[in-house]
Amino acid sequence: MKPSALPVLCVAAARLALAAPAGASPQPGQSAGHIPIVVLDPGHGGSNPGATGATGLREKQLTLALARAVADRLRARGIAVRLTRTTDRTLTLRQRVAIADQLPADLFVSIHANASPTRTQSGYETYVLTPHGIDIDGRALRSDTTTPRPGVAPDIALVLDDVERGASQWEAADLAARMQRALRDRRGPDGDRGVRQDAQHVLLGATMPAVLVEVGFLDHPLEGRRLADPALQSQLADALAEAIADQLAD
Ligand SMILES: [Zn+2]
Repeated sequence: MKPSALPVLCVAAARLALAAPAGASPQPGQSAGHIPIVVLDPGHGGSNPGATGATGLREKQLTLALARAVADRLRARGIAVRLTRTTDRTLTLRQRVAIADQLPADLFVSIHANASPTRTQSGYETYVLTPHGIDIDGRALRSDTTTPRPGVAPDIALVLDDVERGASQWEAADLAARMQRALRDRRGPDGDRGVRQDAQHVLLGATMPAVLVEVGFLDHPLEGRRLADPALQSQLADALAEAIADQLAD
């Protein structure tokens, strides 16, 4: 939303304060000694099972197993992790983003597995938030997900949220590219469907870099079986944790 009632200078000042380029002064909350917080979002859950695999494995089960495994790996590296769910429960998209916004988290990673109408597609892809998505739906989520800013007027806080989303897109694109590279290292180049931009609703409203990774097609006869293999799940968790840790280290 364009806050037309507010002076442009306000936005410019906020950009200076909050959108420092990589390598410049620390981002808010990233001063020396700051322990990064990553929110991992296991897709679906509860009454929303997501895709069903060739082996009967549900997407909601796979995403939770992967999120737990990624969390273990990140915690071993000294990174704080919060899962949007740790059990088989139903969560709205808004609730998932709100958890990340209220911490606030440094990164938000939603984990999913894909399905295609003909069950013939395979491979892995990562989505980043787009400005288009912010304009359309970000404001609908915003009233519930505004980052807590003590002492800041609510209308100014909305502007700051918008500015942070803009800066976060670059980092999200970086993270998405790292995810694809790390997955390609484990799964080979054939399944690399690339970094994509789409108005994935789960990302809308997030003020930190946010990506959604589709680790593979659960309903593909061959890939679906492979995704049910604990050895491949372990490799996928290695890939996601590596990408996240590298992103935070930069
Ligand atoms: Zn999904």
